[in-house]
Amino acid sequence: MKTQITTIQKNTLVMKFGGTSVGTPDAMRQAVSIVKNEKAQWKNVVVITSALSGVTDTLLKMASCETISNPKALDMFALELIQKHDEIANALIHEPVLFQQTIQAINEVISQVVNLCKAIAVLGESTPRVMDTIASAGERMCIHLLAAALNSAGVPATAIEATRLIVTDEHYGDAHPDFARTKKNTCKVLNPILEGGKVPVITGFMAASEAGTITTLGRGGSDYSAAIIGAALPADDVWIYTDVNGVMTADPRLVPDASTVPVCSFREIAELAYYGAKVLHPKTIRPVIEAGIGLRVCNTFQPEHPGTRLVSELDAQHDVIKAITTVRGLKLITLEGRGMLGVPGVAAKTFETVARLGTSVPLITQASSEQSICFAVPSEKADQVIAMLSKSFAHEIESRDIDRVWATDEVGIVTVVGEGMRSTPGVAGRVCTALGDNKVNIVAMAQGSSEVAISVMVNAADLQPALKVLHKLINHSDAA
Ligand code: ADP
Ligand code: ASP
Ligand code: MG
Repeated sequence: MKTQITTIQKNTLVMKFGGTSVGTPDAMRQAVSIVKNEKAQWKNVVVITSALSGVTDTLLKMASCETISNPKALDMFALELIQKHDEIANALIHEPVLFQQTIQAINEVISQVVNLCKAIAVLGESTPRVMDTIASAGERMCIHLLAAALNSAGVPATAIEATRLIVTDEHYGDAHPDFARTKKNTCKVLNPILEGGKVPVITGFMAASEAGTITTLGRGGSDYSAAIIGAALPADDVWIYTDVNGVMTADPRLVPDASTVPVCSFREIAELAYYGAKVLHPKTIRPVIEAGIGLRVCNTFQPEHPGTRLVSELDAQHDVIKAITTVRGLKLITLEGRGMLGVPGVAAKTFETVARLGTSVPLITQASSEQSICFAVPSEKADQVIAMLSKSFAHEIESRDIDRVWATDEVGIVTVVGEGMRSTPGVAGRVCTALGDNKVNIVAMAQGSSEVAISVMVNAADLQPALKVLHKLINHSDAA
């Protein structure tokens, strides 16, 4: 009798590779090998890729005022892009015809970008719509390179532009997807490719409006693309491959002894992402968790490391402070005056004024005396915000209900995050004591209603020491 060996194949995996995971010949070779391994384990593998590291920034520089008025600089950047892609193509695409086709596809995208930049120079201005077409060119080039590298390594793959899959509104630069239409398109385009055993290699970051114009999902948005496509298929798992071992206790570039957080809740990662942890785009979590899909952040350069699993709820929780993140380059604006007490609508008018400038406000505090409102804005916007507020409240300033509107010197926010805080009293006390003991002065403090994060504002020079001091609390609570 024959023994039948059945290999259990899992169904659908979406893998997203970030810029550094594909940015050099070695990195892309590694990404190819990871996809090849997983293709042997899963029935369907879908790949989403960012642009090669640094390419989106270069593209935006090409469209900037300084470059477009200088044709030599434009040519220099275009050459830089060609060389960067050529180097990887040379290393990973072994078949001459495939190599030629890939280089040609990449060169076509670059010449479209150069032509658009020249058009901007002639017109003397750009539009958000044109900027999205330029910004997404990096992903459009990368899919050809990665799909060809996979084919060359014996993994049948097809490059797909996400304009065929993801439908968004026309909010260029930060477009919002229409999930129903996206699901329809995604299944229609991807299912036949998957049934044919091929790996679709899809542009991250990029989508299209209903009218078919290119839109983008915001900087770092390829993570979000993976979530959208994962939810649309639906996939069983979405794995975000980056250059570190998952979500860590702090940015390892700032805290070298940071360690991996093995499991992270929806709320925790949302706070971390909001307060500056670039490791996962904040919009990624919702579509995936809502669709009940597994989400994991892992390391391209250490694929055997389990990384971080993201989960919707965390019950048993012993790590009170789990991770720390920082935002730099802010100023604290204060609106103060004894007459503010009881004047209705001061806060509403303040934030409406700030919103009109399109300025983000990462932290707000108001004391119960109602005699001041403090909020943080990016440093470069502070003067503009003060000028606008002074205008909006001209009447109240004249009548001395508001005494002054002013900004501090540069400050930063350090945020401690952990689900365990909700059930553990005294965390804010521990944070303040640790900072006080180390002579770090607290400029302002806020705790969100989710109760999984406490944010402390400190002077810019104190930010790194504050991060170090508070990171020690993690080890302390782990040991407890
Ligand atoms: P990718 O190109 O793969 O999307 P990003 O540069 O967007 O990668 O995000 C990964 C980077 O996020 C890491 O290299 C790290 O420096 C930074 N980072 C900031 N905070 C954290 C954190 N808490 N955990 C892990 N990485 C973090
Ligand atoms: N390439 C885009 C960016 O640099 C999107 C991404 O990397 O996720 O913002
Ligand atoms: Mg990223």
